[in-house]
Amino acid sequence: MTYLNEHYLKLSGAYLFPEIARRVDAYVQDNRQMESRIIRCGIGDVTEPLTPAVISAMHSAVDEMAKAETFHGYGPPTGYPFLREAIAEGDFVKHGINVSPDEIFVSDGSKTDCGAILDILAQGNENRIAVTDPVYPVYVDSNVMAGHTGAAQGDGSYEGLGSLPCTAENQFVPKIPEEKYDVIYLCYPNNPTGGMITHQQLHAWVEYALKHEAIILYDVAYEAFVRDENLPRSIYEVEGARQCAMEFHSFSKSGGFTGVRCGYTVCPKELSGKTTSGEKHPLHPLWSRRWSTKANSVSYVVQRAAEALYSPRGRKETYALISHYLENAHLLREGCKSMGLTAYGGEHSPYVWVACPDGLKSWEMFDSMLREIQVIITPGVGFGACGEGYIRISAFNTRENVLNVVERMKKLTLASV
Ligand SMILES: *Cc1c(COP(=O)(O)O)cnc(C)c1O
Repeated sequence: MTYLNEHYLKLSGAYLFPEIARRVDAYVQDNRQMESRIIRCGIGDVTEPLTPAVISAMHSAVDEMAKAETFHGYGPPTGYPFLREAIAEGDFVKHGINVSPDEIFVSDGSKTDCGAILDILAQGNENRIAVTDPVYPVYVDSNVMAGHTGAAQGDGSYEGLGSLPCTAENQFVPKIPEEKYDVIYLCYPNNPTGGMITHQQLHAWVEYALKHEAIILYDVAYEAFVRDENLPRSIYEVEGARQCAMEFHSFSKSGGFTGVRCGYTVCPKELSGKTTSGEKHPLHPLWSRRWSTKANSVSYVVQRAAEALYSPRGRKETYALISHYLENAHLLREGCKSMGLTAYGGEHSPYVWVACPDGLKSWEMFDSMLREIQVIITPGVGFGACGEGYIRISAFNTRENVLNVVERMKKLTLASV
């Protein structure tokens, strides 16, 4: 019989969202009349449609594909120049950041990139890898699948994977560790805590990485939610980051592309790793090779759609789209505060991270909200042990639903636990 990748059997992961679904199903079985009242503020998926600029770009690109003269077959493996140039200009050069189009690698999204990047890092256990707690589970699970961890430890963590606690005390930015790590995953604005990092804090992480010749994998899926000019939207705003960081971008949350699928990574030419014999090599040619051998960027139609986000009209529409979610987040955050709850995030992020009152556990709060007010949230403990005692409320919703959630929360007694 054929041998399997046994690392997949270590995954404890498929627990959070199936468990939410199980509890909701059980509740609906017993309370049929409540089913239509349920409001979902759990999963981090966008709710608003694509903007007109994107739709019209996609329509034109489809029409091009219908004619021999304008048809497109295989494109460049790391993305068409028109998109890579628009990205370099719109996301970096315009803000005084030095990133060139050939350092941009267009993909079908950050989930893909999180797994793919491990292809070009050591396949054994040479690298010490650290993730935050709580964490976006994709970083953890992709390392488990690649065999970079030991067994699951029952609290969501894995043997051999470094953990950087993010708590209210450190404002959800991990303190610089004493230990030496080779690969560090950071994500700001953060999912799930909604926390943000300052220039100074990011600078400290870049210094750490330079000192230990480590690589920071910096996820900025939510950078479009940063409206404060004083906060970093890219790690490359920090000097020295080109020597120690790759950046992961996604159009999923900024352009509503969760179903379209497009994102990109930045791999600066200065970024290097080493061989076991100690020879230094740049990552850029390895990353290029990885894409040309194993994939071919993303469809022409989708790349035209992404390009449209950078047009003046696209920018304006996207700004309005993000403003809608930010206003939702603001309403949820203030709603929680006005009823005496301690709420974090929701300012540069679509997520509000709420401390459960009276020592309630995450799942107890989940059950109360489901049974008393029919609102589904995500239990913080599902993102890691440090998430215990918190819930995440997502602002990806219609205004009507958000206003309903805020109204209903006032009636929450938390008596059903
Ligand atoms: C939603 C999200 C992404 C985007 O992933 P895609 O595969 O591009 O849809 C990346 N990182 C985080 C932390 C996210 O929450």
